[in-house]
Amino acid sequence: MGDTGTTPAEVPAAQLPNSPKPGYSTHIVLTTYPGQSGIDPVPLEWGAPDSKSRGPVVVSRSGPLLKRRNAMGAHGGNYSIYNALAIASGDLDPNFRPDFRNSEPIFKFPWQPAWADKEKIVSMDPYGHDIVNQFREQLDAGWDIRPTMAITRANMKLAEIGEAVRDGKLGVDGDIVVDSTGEVRVTKVAVEPVWYLPGVADRFGVDEGTLRRTLFEHTGGSYPELITRPDLKIFLPPIGGLTVYIFGPPERVSDENVKLALRIHDECNGSDVFQSDICTCRPYLAFGIQEAIREAQNGGSGVVIYFRKEGRALGEVTKYLVYNARKRGGDTADKYFTRTENIAGVRDMRFQALMPDILHWLGIKKIDRMLSMSNMKHDAIVQSGIKIHERIPIPDDMIPNDSRVEIDAKINAGYFTTGRQYTMEELAAVKGRGWEKWEDVTH
Ligand SMILES: [Zn+2]
Repeated sequence: MGDTGTTPAEVPAAQLPNSPKPGYSTHIVLTTYPGQSGIDPVPLEWGAPDSKSRGPVVVSRSGPLLKRRNAMGAHGGNYSIYNALAIASGDLDPNFRPDFRNSEPIFKFPWQPAWADKEKIVSMDPYGHDIVNQFREQLDAGWDIRPTMAITRANMKLAEIGEAVRDGKLGVDGDIVVDSTGEVRVTKVAVEPVWYLPGVADRFGVDEGTLRRTLFEHTGGSYPELITRPDLKIFLPPIGGLTVYIFGPPERVSDENVKLALRIHDECNGSDVFQSDICTCRPYLAFGIQEAIREAQNGGSGVVIYFRKEGRALGEVTKYLVYNARKRGGDTADKYFTRTENIAGVRDMRFQALMPDILHWLGIKKIDRMLSMSNMKHDAIVQSGIKIHERIPIPDDMIPNDSRVEIDAKINAGYFTTGRQYTMEELAAVKGRGWEKWEDVTH
């Protein structure tokens, strides 16, 4: 390559199996270096007092922005790959610029001191919802900068909420619960991850270099600038984000004078959507929504935050392998965590350390009723400086039979309960359903 005049960070595009599509340069820039000719990142100061002094997150590699970007990764979280496919297949022009007209938030969340605190918020862009306003000038000049948050409203219908209204557990107020079928009005905030690497490293108690190296190595070397650009502190990781569901007027969320009921829920597609009965996820989610609505109807606020961390962030393939190992190995609560550790190496990869960021963004200072039994969520929230006044376990009558194994094992491992903890002998007696009847069906 030396005689082509390229730097080691570039290779001729001809090395690819076919010639590049129009729109790409003839040389592929594999990575960049600080001090390299033309490298001039747009100033960005995480934790600055306002969006303008903070500066926009610029992650695009398009045209001159390649040398001016101040962030690594790509927009869209895990959907960045679909974006690449759309461009590869010719469906999307790589130079497409979105038209953001009328896409602005339906509610203007008030600025919070945490937005300017580089320790309180490290995993989302606190101005990610408002870039169209804050960075209008750059957008008009053709820069490819994009919101990483969006705020909308919707009506929703959940079977359990309909039942609660029919059974008289929830009333129709016309505002939050709009009718007797249990239709509910909700404000929603979607957030894509934007990581400030020094802050993320701090949360995990590792140095930034170790964090960068492991992210680089274990994403197949996908983001070489993690190594070559220590001056770039922002990384948009290819992972799922979160959604906030707010019941009642959104301005009440940060109001310390009214009560707040809150559930933090980590995704479990099999239960949340398809209602498989091996765990308590959907029942607890429905209970969380019901209690959030109740608090809002009582003049307070109710919030449910849904994180895309499928199967304790181990993914569904690992989760199903664990289910099989449980069912074949004698599914008892005393062995519940061992089955996961055998296959995944750890029992949980959700790492709640980054989770409280969204609470600080919303301006939450205390939680009156925490609809979660997880000690990890509790500890992460309290350690971040937010008080929790009361913890509310899932009611016993909402626990599906086959999920006793999960919930009893969790209680034994430190999950909050108002009942008592189980001994190991008792846990060994808590058994899941097994597959006996299934085998009758399939044979
Ligand atoms: Zn589940």
